[in-house]
Amino acid sequence: MRFISTRGAEKDILSARAIINGIASDGGLYVPEKFPRIYEKIKNRTNICYEDLANEIISKFFTDIKKEELKKAIDEAYKGKFQVKEEKSFLELYHGPTSAFKDAALLFLPQIMKRAKKNCSVEEEIVILTATSGDTGKAALEGFKNVEGFKVVVYYPENGVSEVQKQQMVTQEGKNLKVIGINGNFDNAQTGVKKILGDKNFREQLKDKGHIISSANSINIGRLIPQIVYYFYGYLQLVNKQKIKEGDKINVVVPTGNFGNILAAYYAREMGLPIAKFICASNENKVLTDFFKTSVYDKRRELKLTESPSMDILVSSNLERLLFEASNRNCEEVKNLMDSLNNDGIYTVKENYKEFLKDFYGEYATKDEVYTAIRSVYEVEGYLMDTHTAVAYVVNQKYVKETGDNTQYLLVSTASPYKFPRSICTALGLDVAQINDFEVVNKLKEYTGVNIPTNLQKLDKKPILHNEVWDSGNMKEALLSYLKGNNNDKG
Ligand SMILES: *Cc1c(COP(=O)(O)O)cnc(C)c1O
Repeated sequence: MRFISTRGAEKDILSARAIINGIASDGGLYVPEKFPRIYEKIKNRTNICYEDLANEIISKFFTDIKKEELKKAIDEAYKGKFQVKEEKSFLELYHGPTSAFKDAALLFLPQIMKRAKKNCSVEEEIVILTATSGDTGKAALEGFKNVEGFKVVVYYPENGVSEVQKQQMVTQEGKNLKVIGINGNFDNAQTGVKKILGDKNFREQLKDKGHIISSANSINIGRLIPQIVYYFYGYLQLVNKQKIKEGDKINVVVPTGNFGNILAAYYAREMGLPIAKFICASNENKVLTDFFKTSVYDKRRELKLTESPSMDILVSSNLERLLFEASNRNCEEVKNLMDSLNNDGIYTVKENYKEFLKDFYGEYATKDEVYTAIRSVYEVEGYLMDTHTAVAYVVNQKYVKETGDNTQYLLVSTASPYKFPRSICTALGLDVAQINDFEVVNKLKEYTGVNIPTNLQKLDKKPILHNEVWDSGNMKEALLSYLKGNNNDKG
C-alpha cells in the first residue's frame, strides 16, 4: 500500500513516512492509493474481538510495518484500555481513558508512530502539535504520555472548551507534554498548527536542533485509519443482535466537526461495509449542512461557541479527502478548491459532484432541540446522551421525518455525558446555576445513577500543572519557548 497527497505533489509514499509527516509537503492530506475490499472476508466473524478486527483492517493499509509489530501496536493501544459498545443503536465510542471517541485513534497513534519512526530511521525527537476543540488534546496527551522520543504540545482555545475538558488538560502529568491556552477560537488554533507544519524554513530550523514536528489532528492518516474499525465492529454487533441480517445496508449518523469520523465511515463503505446513507450532523456552526444542501462551502461567518464544543469548527479539514474522491481523484481540482477556501473563504463544487455526494445528508441542531432531546430520551428510554450525541440524535429525527427512511441506523455516541455535565443537568431541568462543574458532576450522578467514568472522578482535586496562555498569532513562539525551556531543564 502506498499513499498519495490530495493535492498531487506526493505519490508512492509508505505509511510510515505518511504517519511521520502528518501532512504532505504541498499542504494536502495523505490518502491511500486504493481501498482494500475486506468486508466479504470478515462478514461472518461476528464475534471477532475489537483488537483482532482492528488488525484485519489496519494491516491492509500499513503494509510496511511488520505484521508482528502492528499486532503489538494494536494490543498495546487497546487491550484493557478501550471498548466499543452498541446499545439501543447508539455506538458508544467513549469507553476509553479520556471518555471521548478520540481515544480510539489516539491510543493507537503513538504506538504506530513509535514504529514508523524506527522504520524511517528517524533519530530526532518528534514533537506532536495538536490543536484541540476539547477532546483531541486530552486524548493525545494521554496517548503520548512518557512515550520515549516524543513530545506533545497541545493548543486549546482558552475560552472554547468545557470546564471539565480544560481541567482534564491543565492537570495532565507526564514529562514530555505541554498544554497552551490560546486567545482565539479552535479555527485560529488549527490554522496556527497548519501554518507551523507548512513552514519549511521553521521545520529546517527545528530539525537542526533535533526536533521533527508532526501532528496528531485527524489530518494524520495514522489517526484516520483506526477509526474505520468501529464501523465494522458496530455493524457486526447489529448482526449479532439480529437487528439486521448480514448484508443489509445501514445508515450511519455522525456528530461531525473536522469530518474525520464520518470520513472513516465512508472509507469503511469503500472497503465493502454495507452503508446506505451518511448523516452528517452539525451544531449551529452548520457550514457542512449548508455545503451538502447547496454545494457551496462558505466559512465566512462567525464561529459560535456551542454546548457541543468539539464540533465548533468552520473548516472541516477532512472534507478535503472526500472532495478528492468526489472529484474522481483530481488533485488539480482539489488544490483549486482549497486555494479558494484559503484565499476567499469560500468555494463551490462542480455540478458533477452532486451525484457523488447524494449519499450524504447534512442537517443541524439548535441548542433548544439538543436540550429537548437529551431530556426526552432520558425520560422515555432511560438513556443518557452527551450534547454531541444529542446533536446527531436530533438530526437523525429530522432525516427520518423528512425522508420516511426507516433503515436501521448506527448513531455514533462520541462522549460521556460527564464531560459536559452542566449542559446535561440544565437539559434535564436541574438547577445548577450556583455550583461549579465538579459539583454538577456529582449532582448528575445522584439524579441519574449513571456511573462517573474513573478518569473524571476527583478531577477538581488534581494540581494545575499548565497555565500558559498565548495569542493565536504567537503559537510558534510558544512552541520555541517550551522547547528551549525544556532543553535547559535537562541542563
Ligand atoms: C471530535 C469530536 C467530534 C467530531 O468528530 P470529527 O471527527 O472531528 O468530525 C464529535 N464529538 C466529540 C465528542 C468529539 O470529541
